[in-house]
This record gives sequence, structure tokens and C-alpha cells, in this order.
Amino acid sequence: MDELVRKASATYSKNFPAETHFERAIFISWFCAKPTCKFCYMYTIKDKIKNPRQARRRLESIFAEALICRICSWEIGFLSAGIASWATSELKEVLDGLYKITGKKQWLNLGVLKERQIKELLPYIEGITGTVECVNEELRRDIVPDKPLDEIDRMFEIADKYEIKKAITIIVGLGETIEDFPRFTELVRKWKVDRINFYRLVPHEDAPFENGPETGYYIEWIAKTRIEFPKIEIIAGSWPDRTTEVPLLLEAGANAITKFPAIKMFGKKPAHEIEEGAEKAGRKFLSNMTVYPDVDIDKELGKLDFDHAMKDKIREKYLKYYKNLKKYEAK
Ligand code: SF4
Repeated sequence: MDELVRKASATYSKNFPAETHFERAIFISWFCAKPTCKFCYMYTIKDKIKNPRQARRRLESIFAEALICRICSWEIGFLSAGIASWATSELKEVLDGLYKITGKKQWLNLGVLKERQIKELLPYIEGITGTVECVNEELRRDIVPDKPLDEIDRMFEIADKYEIKKAITIIVGLGETIEDFPRFTELVRKWKVDRINFYRLVPHEDAPFENGPETGYYIEWIAKTRIEFPKIEIIAGSWPDRTTEVPLLLEAGANAITKFPAIKMFGKKPAHEIEEGAEKAGRKFLSNMTVYPDVDIDKELGKLDFDHAMKDKIREKYLKYYKNLKKYEAK
């Protein structure tokens, strides 16, 4: 394993600068029209959602979070929602607001998108994500029954037509083994993906999984991927109880860290461990997880192209987040 990680680390160094950052996925709903993926939080709450429209975040909450991402130099990993939880015109409003705040197009993780949706959202799209999760077909039929790979195939053909980037998500620990790695490389090559988001399985209460993978196995997938695909962006998930893995994730060739609940954990020990982990791995950490930058929120809002009513609502929401962010930050 040491040799594999050394090789992956050398491959990373040849192709990328000695830097890393944190990426936050912005979740905009907790409703999913096909809540059948057995590892997913939406699967565990599916019977509790009576009104899908109420299982969505308000715009001001999404925009306040995006503002915090900008202030703390967190990239937005992708905009994520359960299947069919927002109409395309509504998504456009969300993406337009995110563009006003970040000045950037976004990656989308919204299930399989149709061509008309991609066309409508095109000015705001950096790339789209195929939620592969697991490449072992037999397991997929059981664990991810409603996301067949041929639908992802078709979506990526549309992405190619409109020249937008492609990403996939992989959850390590769903029952696959490293024997499935060749199938994974075959798909990555076929789709010519630009980035791969790796997560370790985190069992949710009421989901049929009890344990996540061992650190060594999670690292093995990332390191082998880095060696096989020297130039693809690799983003690796880390959780508050797993932040000691961060130096290894980076040495194995990950470009950036994601999934960590950075607002809730801002300034706490695991957030420090991420920053220290980057240093241990010899990377400059470009984001901020522990000391909140000194900003004048009214000035920041003043620069944004929203109407007064929306600015007031964002301000109110931002101040609620801010209270939590300041609670534990390093003194
Ligand atoms: S489609 Fe996405 S949101 Fe819906 S259950 Fe599966 S992983 Fe969860």
C-alpha cells in the first residue's frame, strides 16, 4: 500500500500544483422522486415526506450558504438535489443567484437530466454528474435500482454535444471489491470524465448498511485511480470522525476534500485536522475552515445584484449561519 500511495503521490505532483482546497456540495432539497438508493439519506426519510414542495430549501438559505462559501474560499462542489425536486425554471433561478454570488458556472448533481433541461440551464453549467455510485452491475441492481448506467450514457452524450464537462460519483464500501476496478476504468475511459467524486460509505440509521470501508481500502481506490488517470480531477469525501485520513487522501492523489459539514464544524477539532492534514501532505490549503474572515456583510451584499427584499432575506439567514461559524472559530 505504501508503494501504491507513493506512486500516486508522485503522479499527482507531476500533474498538479502542491495545493488543495475544500469543496462544499450545496444541497437544495431533501425530496427525491425515486428514493430507492439504499445508502442514501433520502431513502431513509422517504416515508416521512408528505409534501415534496416543502422539502426544499428557500432561495435565501441557498444564497447565504453560497456567500459563506465565497467568503471562506470553499469551492461549490456541485448543486445537488433529489430527482425531480425542482422545476427547470426554478433551478435556473437558483443557478442565476449562485452566478451573481460566485461569478462561476456550477457543476450539477441532479440525477439524469434531459436535453431540454441541459439546453435551458446551459449558460450556468460547468459540468454534469453521473451518479454511478457503484460499478458492480449485480450490486447496482439491488442498491441503486433506478439509476441505470445507460441513462447516464445518454446524458453524457448530450454533455458532449453541448461541450460541458462530466463527473461521476463513486461510493466506496457498498460491497464492491477492488476486482471491480477494471470495470470502473473502462467506464471512466468510455465517458472521458473530467472529475471523479469519491465518498466512503457512511451508514445511515434505517439504511441496510452497518459499516463503512477500512481506510486502506478507500485509499486504494483513490491511489489506483490517480495512477491510472494522472490528469483527472479527484475529489475525496471526508467526515468529522475521519479527518485523520486527510493526509492520506491527498497523498493518494486527491485534488480536494469534500463532504465534511464545514459550517456545523467550523473551527472545531476536525476542521483543524483538515487544515493540518493538508500541510502534512505538503499541500497549501487554499480554503478556510477555522478562522472566519473579517467581512462587512452589508458591503458584501451591497455588491450583489439582488433586489432589496432578497438581500434582506439573505442577510437574515447569513447572520444565523454566522453565529454558528463564530462560535468555535480559533481565537
Ligand atoms: S436518486 Fe439521489 S437523492 Fe434519490 S435516493 Fe438515489 S442518491 Fe438519494
